[in-house]
Amino acid sequence: PVLRTSETQEARLKLPILAEEQVIMEAVKENSVVVLCGETGSGKTTQVPQFLYEAGYCSDGGIIGITEPRRVAAVTMSQRVAKEMNLSHGVVSYQIRYEGNITDETKIKFMTDGVLLKEIQKDFLLLKYKVVIIDEAHERSVYTDILIGLLSRIVPLRKKKGQPLKMIVMSATLRVEDFTQNKRLFPVPPPVVKVEARQFPVTVHFNKRTPLDDYAGECFRKVCKIHHMLPTGGILVFLTGQAEVHSLCRRLRKAFPYHHKHKSEEKEDSTDDMKKFKNSKARKATVLPRINLDNYSVMPVDEGDEDRDAGIGDGEEAFASDDDDLNLGDGVLEEGEMSDSSLPLFVLPLYSLLAPDKQAKVFRPPPNGTRLCVVATNVAETSLTIPGIKYVVDCGKVKKRFYDKVTGVSSFKVTWTSQASANQRAGRAGRTEPGHCYRLYSSAVFSDFETFSPPEITRRPVEDLVLQMKALNIEKVINFPFPTPPTPDALIAAEELLISLGALQEPPKSGRLKELERAKLSCPISSLGRTMALFPVSPRFAKMLALSGQQGCLPYIITIVSAMTVRELFEEFDRPAVSEEEKMKLKGKKARVAQMQRIWAGQGSSQKLGDLMVLLGAVGACEYAGFTYKFCEDNGLRYKAMVEIRRLRGQLTTTVNLLCSDVDISADSKMVPPTESQVTFLRQIVMAGLGDHIAKRIQPEELLDEKWRNAYKTPLLDDPVFIHPNSVLFRQLPDFVVYQEIIETSKMYMKGVSAVEPEWIP
Ligand code: ADP
Ligand code: MG
Repeated sequence: PVLRTSETQEARLKLPILAEEQVIMEAVKENSVVVLCGETGSGKTTQVPQFLYEAGYCSDGGIIGITEPRRVAAVTMSQRVAKEMNLSHGVVSYQIRYEGNITDETKIKFMTDGVLLKEIQKDFLLLKYKVVIIDEAHERSVYTDILIGLLSRIVPLRKKKGQPLKMIVMSATLRVEDFTQNKRLFPVPPPVVKVEARQFPVTVHFNKRTPLDDYAGECFRKVCKIHHMLPTGGILVFLTGQAEVHSLCRRLRKAFPYHHKHKSEEKEDSTDDMKKFKNSKARKATVLPRINLDNYSVMPVDEGDEDRDAGIGDGEEAFASDDDDLNLGDGVLEEGEMSDSSLPLFVLPLYSLLAPDKQAKVFRPPPNGTRLCVVATNVAETSLTIPGIKYVVDCGKVKKRFYDKVTGVSSFKVTWTSQASANQRAGRAGRTEPGHCYRLYSSAVFSDFETFSPPEITRRPVEDLVLQMKALNIEKVINFPFPTPPTPDALIAAEELLISLGALQEPPKSGRLKELERAKLSCPISSLGRTMALFPVSPRFAKMLALSGQQGCLPYIITIVSAMTVRELFEEFDRPAVSEEEKMKLKGKKARVAQMQRIWAGQGSSQKLGDLMVLLGAVGACEYAGFTYKFCEDNGLRYKAMVEIRRLRGQLTTTVNLLCSDVDISADSKMVPPTESQVTFLRQIVMAGLGDHIAKRIQPEELLDEKWRNAYKTPLLDDPVFIHPNSVLFRQLPDFVVYQEIIETSKMYMKGVSAVEPEWIP
């Protein structure tokens, strides 16, 4: 029996889903697969696991698993459910890519979707689970989609075995046809249970005019007006990325200054990493973390990490919208924005990379006599419900990474969101009482929004997924029951890349083109491919790892691959400064970092490893300096990124030691710099992984068009690509280079560049 506090009991009774407990449990009892739709905040995530627990689904040792596309949700929700049920974290636990608190006693397990996918590789039938809940299915994250496809096969197999598995798909929207009407997925459509939400009316106000690009400034003005003129009630602002969120928080705190307590609130933000660092130092700095491989996601792409991903473009684009800060230097506010200090504003940021204890703050009532104002990214759209929100301010935008499916070139763009997500955002205002949503764009613009955002799987390259599926012996990936399949082009591109990396067996050369195409789509995995699939990094990097057993190069490649996977080691200094003083500071830092990078790039032929040598040098130097926060701060390294690189190095080291009995890489995190001959070998290994990412410099005598000056030509693109001024190879412009990726900002820039010798090119 679950012993809940009366307080919890009272709060639960207010949730619409409680009225449906019977209906839901009936449906689950009668069917192996059930789809459950209910508005955000109706209680799906927190209550359904409890219903199942109380109905005895864990009584004979089974586990209830719940997958979330975002790390934030997995952690917060497990804590919430443990608290509501009065059970310890050892019983209601979570597992995300690098951490978790799972025990042998765990009965309810929240995890990211990538973690469950990894478990399927080890135990295809997921025998320890009695129920698997796929939460937030409407988000259509790639792993969620694939899990639904896999589970549609696992459920009947479990039934045949006489150990039935229940599957529940939960969605915040009613748009579930991709799951229910897809005959390949579920020949018999699963029943859909709807939870009637007790939603209060939300009045939507459109702007008459749509601001051209200063939507962050428009948000600021709108919050000021609401706070100034409208009755009490929390405000929730939707912006597109972490940098914007922080900038608006700073601005609002300045406009509605807070005393004593709230000062410390702000301070905490900047000292937080420091504190964390101090704790981590106590954990012995020179040994790589030992990793329990059972607790790991093997999936290469960062789970639910949209914010960091979205943060990457911030330096070049998003900061433009933060310009307003410049006008605020002396605290002058426009008319009508005067701060009403009689009612302070309690401003909190919310985004997925925020430390969990800070995320939890948004659920607590704001201090007496203040108004809550949460400035959030998409996280607040459906994953987390913040109590007491009466006003929503929606900029209408979302930041996404866009890929060119053929060339793989990616760029971050801030675009209009979909009508569906704008409506979700508006709905946040009507949870506890009637509310208002202020859309900072016109109704005409809204009617031009696409109705729904397309599923993620149709928008990105899929080589990592294809490799994982082949490792599960799904040879004809094209026949896999995807809720929405990737395009055939994307699948072919993925298989071609995997064939060229040697991860798949070559298709027979004979036959007509059509047959060849078809053959290409059903190549079995090679033994190299099986090894590659075990590394939690993208197939190109996995190939590098698989090759680097010689000449003592493994520790270096592990480090390079970790740094390339984590990305964005260096802080961004090319942003507009708030004051003259800050401008000087940024300039000084940038110069220092550039100098350090030149040192880390090494001397003589070592320099030819280019940006990757810098990564190696930076990680090496940081370890030698005792892995201190100060070292990172002084040298323009992002401490958080360095910590993550360390964890990934630990994981890769463990994996390699486990896979190859003949090597034994030391877990010592310190490395001596590679010798010149090792550097040459490293360059060759890097080229083996990035073989199709070759670029050739346009020679002066070939220059027909000015736009090609100092440019490079690649096999895939018609347009010139460039070495970024921040690259250590920018001044050298080697004749041939390989690159990690091309990101389009003001130009097409290659990232992670290193030089190759012409004679290596086949
Ligand atoms: P759904 O999954 O249907 O969107 P949830 O189960 O997440 O709904 O939320 C149900 C209710 O529980 C919401 O009103 C939400 O505010 C509340 N809630 C969720 N997590 C917490 C928490 N950590 N602290 C306080 N309230 C919470
Ligand atoms: Mg939920």
